[in-house]
Amino acid sequence: MPTPKTIFKRIIDGEIPAKIIYEDEFSLAFHDVSPQAPVHILIIPRKEIESVAELQPEDAALMGHLFLVVQKIAQEQGLTNGFRTVINTGRDGGQTVPHLHLHLMGKRALGWPPG
Ligand code: AMP
Repeated sequence: MPTPKTIFKRIIDGEIPAKIIYEDEFSLAFHDVSPQAPVHILIIPRKEIESVAELQPEDAALMGHLFLVVQKIAQEQGLTNGFRTVINTGRDGGQTVPHLHLHLMGKRALGWPPG
């Protein structure tokens, strides 16, 4: 049995809608469906990588690219007071979608430490 597509792969393939705000050859960014801050955007690679735990050496440039996309979107969203970038990994890390993604959150002061 082939592994079913993740919800994010289905967004990449245009099978389900998302509020996409940025896309390029390597990545896609869209609003989180359940925002935890006034700005809550997910940045994902088009490449299917389950999590940070599965990254390979050849993914190094891709990960750098994703952070530059974070920076660009943060500027566009006016997050001049700062923002938080989160990557949850695996069960204990709170990851619920097994396609690597960066959360970009801002426009409010965020507490620390996280729960
Ligand atoms: P994580 O818990 O780190 O795996 O984050 C998954 C995130 O994906 C959560 O913040 C969800 O609210 C968000 N999410 C799940 N399904 C969708 C969807 N169809 N469109 C946008 N965001 C989604």
